[in-house]
Amino acid sequence: MLYDLIVIGGGPAGMMAAGRAAENGARVLLLEKNDQLGVKLLITGKGRCNITNTEPELKKFIGQYGQNGKFLFTALNKFSPQDTLLFFDNLGVATKVERGQRVFPASDRADAVLSALIKYLKKNQVETRLNVEVEKIVTRLRDKNSIEKIILTNGQELIAKNYLIATGGKSYPGTGSTGTGFEWLKKMGHHIIQPQPALVPIVVQEPWIHELEGLSLKNVAISLYQNNKKMDSRFGEAIFTHNGLSGPIILDMGKKIGELLTKGVVSLKIDFKPALDEKTLDQRIQEDFLNFKDKMFKNSLAWLLPQKMVPVIIKLSGIETNKKVNIINKIERQKLLGLLKNFTLQVKKTAGFGAAIITAGGVDLKEIDPQTMRSKIIDNLYLSGEILDLDGPTGGFNLQVCWSTGYVAGNGIV
Ligand SMILES: Cc1cc2nc3c(=O)[nH]c(=O)nc-3n(C[C@H](O)[C@H](O)[C@H](O)COP(=O)(O)OP(=O)(O)OC[C@H]3O[C@@H](n4cnc5c(N)ncnc54)[C@H](O)[C@@H]3O)c2cc1C
Repeated sequence: MLYDLIVIGGGPAGMMAAGRAAENGARVLLLEKNDQLGVKLLITGKGRCNITNTEPELKKFIGQYGQNGKFLFTALNKFSPQDTLLFFDNLGVATKVERGQRVFPASDRADAVLSALIKYLKKNQVETRLNVEVEKIVTRLRDKNSIEKIILTNGQELIAKNYLIATGGKSYPGTGSTGTGFEWLKKMGHHIIQPQPALVPIVVQEPWIHELEGLSLKNVAISLYQNNKKMDSRFGEAIFTHNGLSGPIILDMGKKIGELLTKGVVSLKIDFKPALDEKTLDQRIQEDFLNFKDKMFKNSLAWLLPQKMVPVIIKLSGIETNKKVNIINKIERQKLLGLLKNFTLQVKKTAGFGAAIITAGGVDLKEIDPQTMRSKIIDNLYLSGEILDLDGPTGGFNLQVCWSTGYVAGNGIV
C-alpha cells in the first residue's frame, strides 16, 4: 500500500501529526520502536502529565521559549493551548488548572492522555506498528531533495509520498528518544543546533552533599555565579539529590548552567532566608542567642533551618556543637550568617541527557516552514516536536510544542 504519510516516532508529536493528517483524509502509517506508544508521555509531570499551560497572553507564552519562540507564532495561532484543552475534552479527558496555570488531566493520570491519543489514532484509522525501528532514510539518487524510502532494522523497506520525523530529542534515552533523528537529518543536509540537556538537575563537587539527599527547600533564593558575577537568580523550590540539586528552580536554570560550564567555573549560592537582609537576620540571631543563652549551638538552629540541614551547617560553621550560644563570638556568628545567606556549592556538571527533561538545540528552525512544519531542504519531509530547536520551561510548555507543531504538520501534509 502506498501511504500518504509515514510518521516515525510514536510520542506526543508523532501521534498528534499522524492523527491530524488521517483526520484530513491521508493514509497514515505510524512507526514506533517501543512496544507501546508514548512511553515518555507516561512519565510526564511525575505520571500526571502537565498537558499545557493556560497563560492567556500569546506574547508571554511565546516568550517562554526565548528567541526561538517566535517560530511558534503560527503554530500556536492554529492550535493554541485552548485548542489543546478542547481537543482532549472531545476525547473524554477533563482537565484542571493548577498553580502557575499548569493544566493536568482531572484524573491526575498521564495514561488518560495517552489513551485519548490512541483513541484519536484509531478513530481516524491510522495504521500503527509497534516494535518497528527505522534504521535508515534513503534519499532519491538523482533528486537529493526528497526521500525515496525508509529501511527498518529488520531490512524491510517502506515507501510513502511524505515522511514525518518525530523521534524527539536525546533526553531520557531509556524511553526511546536516543537522538537518531538528528543523525538522519544531518545526512540529509539539515543543520542541527548542538543538542544540550535542559531542565536538568546538577551535580556538585561537595562530597558531603549526599547527607542532604531528599531534603526539599521551599521559598529559597538560588543565584548562579561565574567569575564573581551573578549570572542568574531564582526564587522558589529546590531539592537535594544524592549528588547535587534538582527541583523547579534548578531545572529552569539547568540549560544556562550547562552553557556557563563550557566557559569556566560555576558556583551556586543558596539564600535560606531571602525575606531577611543580613542585618535583620543577624539581629534576630543575636536576640535568639540572648534569650536562650544556656542553649547549646546544636539546639539553636531549628527555627532557622530544616532539621536535615542542621548538622551540615554546624560542620561547615566550625563552631563547636555543644558550645553555649551566649559565648559564640561575632566572627563565628558572621560565619553562620554567611552560610544562611550564601550557602555556596561548586557545580561539577549537569546530570546530562539521562536526567534532562528536555533537549535544547535540534533542527535549525530557519530550515523549517512554520506554516506547515515542512523541511525547506527535503521536499517530502515534515518535522514536529522536541526534535526541533525549541525548548521551554516546566509548566506544560514543552508538550504544547508537540501538540501545536504536530497539528500544523498534520494539516500541512494534505
Ligand atoms: C521525566 C519527564 C517529565 C516531563 N514532564 C513534562 C510535562 O509534565 N509537561 C511537558 O510539557 N513536558 C514534559 N516533558 C517533556 C515531554 O515529555 C517532551 O517534550 C515530549 O515527550 C516530546 O515529544 P516528542 O513526540 O517530540 O518526542 P518523544 O516523546 O521523545 O517521542 C519520540 C518517539 O520516537 C521513537 N523513536 C525514536 N527513534 C525511532 C526509530 N528509529 N524508529 C521508530 N521510533 C523511534 C521513540 O521510541 C519515542 O517513542 C517531560 C519529559 C521528561 C523526560
